[in-house]
Amino acid sequence: MRVTTAFSKLLRLRGVWVKKVRFELDRVVVEVALRRKKLQCPKCSYSTWARKDTRPEDSVWRHLDLGVWRLEIHCRRRRLWCPVHGARTEAVPFARPGSEFTRDFECLVAWLASKVDKTTLKRMLRIDWDTVGRIVKRVCDEELDPDRLDGLFDIGIDEVSWKRQHKYLTLVVDHLRRQVVWGCEGAGAAAADEFFAELDPETASPSPPPNPPEQPPAPGDAKRPAAWPEPAIMVPFGPCPTVPAGHGIQGAWLQDGLELEPAMFARARRLHAISMDMTGGYAKSVGEHAPQAIRCIDPYHVVQLANQALDEVRRDYWNELRGAGDPQAARRFKDSRWCLLKKPEKLTDQQAATLARIKTAGGEVWRAYTLKEAVRGIFEAGLSLEDVEVLLKRLLSRLARSRLKPFVRLGKTIRKHRDGILAAIRLGINQGRTEALNNKVRLITRRAYGFHSAQAALALVLLTCGPISLHLPHELHALEMG
Ligand SMILES: [Zn+2]
Repeated sequence: MRVTTAFSKLLRLRGVWVKKVRFELDRVVVEVALRRKKLQCPKCSYSTWARKDTRPEDSVWRHLDLGVWRLEIHCRRRRLWCPVHGARTEAVPFARPGSEFTRDFECLVAWLASKVDKTTLKRMLRIDWDTVGRIVKRVCDEELDPDRLDGLFDIGIDEVSWKRQHKYLTLVVDHLRRQVVWGCEGAGAAAADEFFAELDPETASPSPPPNPPEQPPAPGDAKRPAAWPEPAIMVPFGPCPTVPAGHGIQGAWLQDGLELEPAMFARARRLHAISMDMTGGYAKSVGEHAPQAIRCIDPYHVVQLANQALDEVRRDYWNELRGAGDPQAARRFKDSRWCLLKKPEKLTDQQAATLARIKTAGGEVWRAYTLKEAVRGIFEAGLSLEDVEVLLKRLLSRLARSRLKPFVRLGKTIRKHRDGILAAIRLGINQGRTEALNNKVRLITRRAYGFHSAQAALALVLLTCGPISLHLPHELHALEMG
């Protein structure tokens, strides 16, 4: 077998044949030529026989390593004139436009980025972290399910920091599919507005209509006026014998004087419930764009606030100890942070022992701990709405009488958002369900801390927690072979 034939088989690059192979000091260079004669625009589907010119030098892509060798693909590309995009270098089937890596290589990077830590990936593939970021962004742009914003019903909107210095991503979670379906840089009302603008590009307007258009009530609705006609079967030319009763396209009559309102068909208007934090930024935007949706508070955020209150009490106490000239006790106490914040069932033996000591010592920190656990307790699985209402009432009075400032404050916040918290319980947006995804998102954003761009961090979150399935190169090739 000739060496070029052997390499054609080895590399399995789509749409090329191997012209030449040469071994250099630290790499194998494979020269290839495109099989197709037509030139393809990299930005659109335009293709042409007309060549503008040929680039003066080879383009280079890195492919999957060959044993310990780095492997480079070299190809001389032509340029074309696209009526929309102007002069462009032709696209190649084995690599994404603008990339210096083959699709196979990028698919390996994306898979690994979603599974392993930064150091492992960089060392294994010999690439820097920002290159990983650019690859992840390209893969995400191409592979993410384009219909991911269809059929949303119960969603959550939340922010997560992707870098130190208060840089945030806003993420939208589909509670039913348990996936992150959308994201953007930034936080608060502006970020939520951006989501609604993308959800309904046609109807997006900076200010909401003064009166939300009334939707025709569904059949069987008590408020439905008697005069409202039944939905009709629309048949083009009179009764049609080939359409059995109950089939066909459903239509409905509009009331006299009622204009067809495009917002009626907006995807935002079909949202049933939206969960969020207690800061109010997202709530404002949701109120404008999806006024019908039930606004609820993610239990996750309530527990998070309780943890913060506990940490405040603990810190004050620790500073007091240190001020009182007891460095030994202060040091012992500093290590107690995690055993206080962790769930009791997840403590190590040593942490459990520390917790027991805090209990024996009693005092403010132990009281704060029991209050935090009481907050967590109202979101335990298996509680009915009535149970939670009783627990919540008891909790609020306990917090108000706690004489611990952070917890009195927490009580006021919880009281203010009581309805939203109960709505979350009623709709089954419980802690366990959202927590797993939340923890995963936070793990991934910590991994993304090294990226320079928010877009790369967002892409990594979507690749890992979004509607996308990542495969390894050999799995994709197996799929292609059928
Ligand atoms: Zn084009």
